[in-house]
Amino acid sequence: MRLARGVTRFGAAPQLFAITDDVAVVLNVPAAPDPLLEVLRAAQAWTDLAPASVPPVPLAELRLLSPIERPGKIIAIGLNYHDHTAETGLQAPSEPLTFAKYPTSITGPSDEIVVPTTLTKRVDWEAELAFVIGRRCGPHRRGTIADIAGYTVANDVSARDLQFGDKQWTRGKSLDTFCPLGPTLVSPDEFGDLAGHRIWATVNGSSMQDGTTSDLIFDVPTLLDSITAGVTLEPGDLVLTGTPPGVGGFRTPPVFLADGDVVRVGVEGIGELVNRVRWN
Ligand code: ZN
Repeated sequence: MRLARGVTRFGAAPQLFAITDDVAVVLNVPAAPDPLLEVLRAAQAWTDLAPASVPPVPLAELRLLSPIERPGKIIAIGLNYHDHTAETGLQAPSEPLTFAKYPTSITGPSDEIVVPTTLTKRVDWEAELAFVIGRRCGPHRRGTIADIAGYTVANDVSARDLQFGDKQWTRGKSLDTFCPLGPTLVSPDEFGDLAGHRIWATVNGSSMQDGTTSDLIFDVPTLLDSITAGVTLEPGDLVLTGTPPGVGGFRTPPVFLADGDVVRVGVEGIGELVNRVRWN
């Protein structure tokens, strides 16, 4: 099953939709700004949500939003593809390297990435497979893939000058709109085997990243086990699993996102984020 959060032309509040091909079926959930988060926090299985008794909507008439808007936390993984680690010149980590992105960085799958040029002019893309936690897990009970509610796509947008100038990564990874997310949340059974999904990024139509989830250094079960050794994950929390090679900052010469650029980031079996960059 495949879910999206979105607004129709007429609807004021975001709704949840089950997506099949080009049709969106409204799901029967109480009105809330972040309905999927409420569903997960109530320990409901989103795949069991019933359709509302209203006609389906053509997908093209929806404005899609991120599946989740304000998770409790976003944990991201650095240097988790061999060739990306090589291109950075950094040492491959011996255990998963985690860092934080603030939840306020999340934006929609077709919204603008807004670059505050007083702070940064070296903004980069990172295509990533992401997952959403469905069930609390942590040191009391280590996380497994059975705790995952679904898979989605994230662009871990990164201000390289802030990331490396600050000596730690949080601000450079957390500016508002620096985490485009979506366009759908795909259930684990539909996503299938975690390996072998193509993952890519293009800028203005030129291929920049073209990898496969088979090349993860630490796979998803290992990431979950490692994170929850010391940190509790709660329903709705989001984990970004790292990016394949081909980011802009480590190219020769480096490439950064300019005003008006269109960056597309996708994972096979989930969909694609299409975000225009606006210098502000
Ligand atoms: Zn990343």
